[in-house]
Amino acid sequence: MAGGLAEGPETGSCLEAGFAAAMDAAQVGIYLLQDGLFRYVNPFLARMFGYAADELVGRRGTLDLLLAESQFFLVQERAIGGTGEHVAACEFFARRKDGSLFPVSICTAPSTFAGGTATVGTVLDLSAQKAAEARIRELADFDALTGLPNRRLLHDRVRQMLAAAERDDSPFALLFLDLDHFKRINDSLGHSVGDELLCAVARRLAGAVRRVDTLARLGGDEFILAMPGTHAAAAIDVARRLLEECNAPFLVAGHDLTVTPSVGVAICPQDGKDIETLLRNADAAMYKAKELGRNTFQFYAAEMNTATLERLMMESGLRRAVKQQEFVLHYQPLVSLQNGLIIGVEALIRWQHPELGLIMPDRFIHVAEEAGLINAIGDWVLCEACRQAQSWIEAGLPPLVMAVNVAPEQFRQGGFVEAVAGALAASGLDPALLELEVTERTVMHDADSSIGTLTALHRMGVELSLDDFGTGYSSLAYLKRFPVGKLKIDRSFIRDLETDADDQAIASTIVSMGRNLRLTVLAEGVESREQLALLRAMDCDMAQGYLFSRALPGDEITELLRRQPFLHKE
Ligand code: C2E
Ligand code: CA
Ligand code: CA
Repeated sequence: MAGGLAEGPETGSCLEAGFAAAMDAAQVGIYLLQDGLFRYVNPFLARMFGYAADELVGRRGTLDLLLAESQFFLVQERAIGGTGEHVAACEFFARRKDGSLFPVSICTAPSTFAGGTATVGTVLDLSAQKAAEARIRELADFDALTGLPNRRLLHDRVRQMLAAAERDDSPFALLFLDLDHFKRINDSLGHSVGDELLCAVARRLAGAVRRVDTLARLGGDEFILAMPGTHAAAAIDVARRLLEECNAPFLVAGHDLTVTPSVGVAICPQDGKDIETLLRNADAAMYKAKELGRNTFQFYAAEMNTATLERLMMESGLRRAVKQQEFVLHYQPLVSLQNGLIIGVEALIRWQHPELGLIMPDRFIHVAEEAGLINAIGDWVLCEACRQAQSWIEAGLPPLVMAVNVAPEQFRQGGFVEAVAGALAASGLDPALLELEVTERTVMHDADSSIGTLTALHRMGVELSLDDFGTGYSSLAYLKRFPVGKLKIDRSFIRDLETDADDQAIASTIVSMGRNLRLTVLAEGVESREQLALLRAMDCDMAQGYLFSRALPGDEITELLRRQPFLHKE
């Protein structure tokens, strides 16, 4: 028998064989206790505590197996000398032989042993049950009012998001959103209306965030949005969207209620790397937003709110502009110096901003490049420029070269040649009328692959010109390898052409070099008659500049093309 019974005169006769077998097989721990010591333990109990039966029987009692703090009941039991009254199940923490703790439930009843009073106890291991209860508590991670994740779940999720962000070196943003003057609604219309409003706000906000984000309610009118993979610019988009979501009134209990939120934004890692710090800083930023007059958002980092913010606003505005097609092309004439004929135009992009008006490309092209938007913008420019050129032909104007600027990133993207072919096919424009302007830097970056792209375009019949020429230190040897047809002398060499002997030398060198390589040379930024005269004297082929015309909208340039006002009369 694996269990043990204290040696005693009546032992053998006390327990019948069947009784002993039942004890052996029982799937609960059973003991007999007298004078504070076990007189019998069944095998299940011995296993449960990790002892051999004979290490317990006669040598230990319940007090040795339970945690001190949970022993009050047993002390009481010993006080009554093991005569014990019946005691309903009580829960304790017990200690196994190896020191590990586990929860048990013990139930005792009075008994006798060897003619004396004793206690019989039943012990259940509660480990599995407690684990299940903990799991159920875990499932109760949601705010009872709104059904949104609560603080506990938010903390869990954010910890995971932060670990992933660190691992992938990806950004993470935390938004703290607090409703403005919510207390007034509670005070004036009552808490049940306030509660309903919170639910309505929660629903609207939840509808405006991505599935990977966690929108939680911290209690009161405070909401948190945790956004993995989100940098500052994207956080602005979201903050704006959340503010917009609250623009329309909420219909609650027959009232049209308007609540505006104030939003604070903290970005990981610069504003904190753990949830506590991020929450605290997003909270502080939210208070700044309140101070600024509410219904707005603020970043925690002060510099985010000034210089960088403008840049970020630009980036987020550009994303919208791409989606809503807020760009227009203006066209600047390219004039032949031989006869004054406009033989082409350069398409120059402008951003028609809904609030700020017309924005020039120098202010946004580099932002678009950094934000990864330049390809989308460039594709639009290509298509629109080709469409315009073809529509002039269809309107009966003589064929014109349409020059389109190509950003470095756009030129290097896979599929650029196909994008050009697509724009030509969609518009029906003759490839010979399209000219792509790339800078020296663009093609020199990876000269070998550039040659491949340029050659493919050249084979399609598309013209290529080197823009801003003279600023990029191209070597002649290289130039010969590129299938380009035109050099555009950079404006910086033309500006002081009348007064600066170096600029004159550079310009005339480019002109004669171009002649030798059988390239057309165009001077950019020609503003005065004096500059024009010098360029003519150098035998420069073409010019572009304010002297002739600024870049104009499509309809105005059509006029100019019909009139050809720069034609030499001689
Ligand atoms: P760019 O390619 O060198 O274009 C010529 C710029 O010089 C244009 O400025 C034009 O308006 C300006 N310009 C022309 N004549 C004169 C003149 O006589 N005096 C002065 N001071 N300026 C003159 P814009 O339109 O502001 O464009 C600036 C730059 O933005 C362009 O320089 C080009 O690099 C870029 N850009 C414009 N449109 C596009 C586009 O569709 N795609 C790409 N990737 N870049 C573009
Ligand atoms: Ca250009
Ligand atoms: Ca240029």
